[in-house]
Amino acid sequence: MNSASAVGAEADGMAVFATRSSDACERRADEPEHPLRSPFARDRDRIIHSRAFRRLEYKTQVFLNGSGDHYRTRMTHTIEVVAIARTLARGLKVNEDLTEAIALAHDLGHTPFGHVGERVLDKLLKNAGGFDHNEQSLRIIDCLEKKYPHMDGLNLTWGTRTGLVKRRGQAAKLDGVLLPPQPSMEAQIADLADDVAYYAHDVDDGVVAGLLDMEHLQEVKFWQLAYRQAVETGGEPDAPYFPSYAVRCLIDMLVDDIVRTTGERIALRKPRNPEDVTSNHEPLVSFSDDFQRGSDEFRSFLFNKLYWHSEVLDVNHRAEKAMKRLYAYFCAHPEAMGSGARARIQDNGIERAAADYLAGMTDLYAIQQYQERLGEVF
Ligand code: MG
Repeated sequence: MNSASAVGAEADGMAVFATRSSDACERRADEPEHPLRSPFARDRDRIIHSRAFRRLEYKTQVFLNGSGDHYRTRMTHTIEVVAIARTLARGLKVNEDLTEAIALAHDLGHTPFGHVGERVLDKLLKNAGGFDHNEQSLRIIDCLEKKYPHMDGLNLTWGTRTGLVKRRGQAAKLDGVLLPPQPSMEAQIADLADDVAYYAHDVDDGVVAGLLDMEHLQEVKFWQLAYRQAVETGGEPDAPYFPSYAVRCLIDMLVDDIVRTTGERIALRKPRNPEDVTSNHEPLVSFSDDFQRGSDEFRSFLFNKLYWHSEVLDVNHRAEKAMKRLYAYFCAHPEAMGSGARARIQDNGIERAAADYLAGMTDLYAIQQYQERLGEVF
């Protein structure tokens, strides 16, 4: 099957600046194409069938996994990001399969216990290359997953892999190739959908946890707008469903702003191909200026009122202690690690092998190991 037939498996009606699989379907190892699925649809399926993806189910988003039945986990966060990203991709007429693959993989590299786990590993590995969950996501799909004969990783396409590389305003490389300043439209969408998803669900979870209330939330513009939309469409502020309904209105409002603003930018800059998107010095996919200010305000609000709340910080301190002690334990007892991690010691060093092993753990498994190996109660 030639590449034209695989491209035929992609949705019709994509814009000229969408990434088509014919543009970015190279894999590190050549493979025959699939008769029914586009290369990016195959990437999506490979991610879903990976071990790292399944482990997201028991990893913290904000609230420790298992501490409440209704809180988001890293898995449900990822699924919410995918849902929002697909809507944006459809609205902007770009490649939905690629957007979905990038969104599904974007948090694979997260450690147990959320960002605190990442910070601990980064400090512990400061003389061995550091630790970053974005880089770890790539490492997982390129090296750590073992599913195929003769190769490590999931052998995903260039389009999906480059979509996972964070630019952070600096020149970024993949496989030694210098990447353009911006990622594809599809990656830009997945990135902003991540923000929309966590703004919305962290508020929802914060209210359920009793750490945020309506009075706090009224301080921020995004909530005022969502609240107003919720009331105008029949929501009753004292009803038990109201916070969730206002969160629904918030997502709708943010998605609408992104589609509208990005549509205006497209009309202005008239990108004729994917390169016109990636060569820009700033992203095409964005909030309006007004909403960008709202977004910055909302982010600081969540930090101050939720992520730095004493209840969240208390769990984080315990997580930090557990991660440090487990790391030291596995460095001193490499024989206690899984066979995959042990096999990488020779090439990657004990620090990286232990970090990979620890980063891959779910909250559940890390807590269990902490108790079994170190006799500590989390
Ligand atoms: Mg995320």
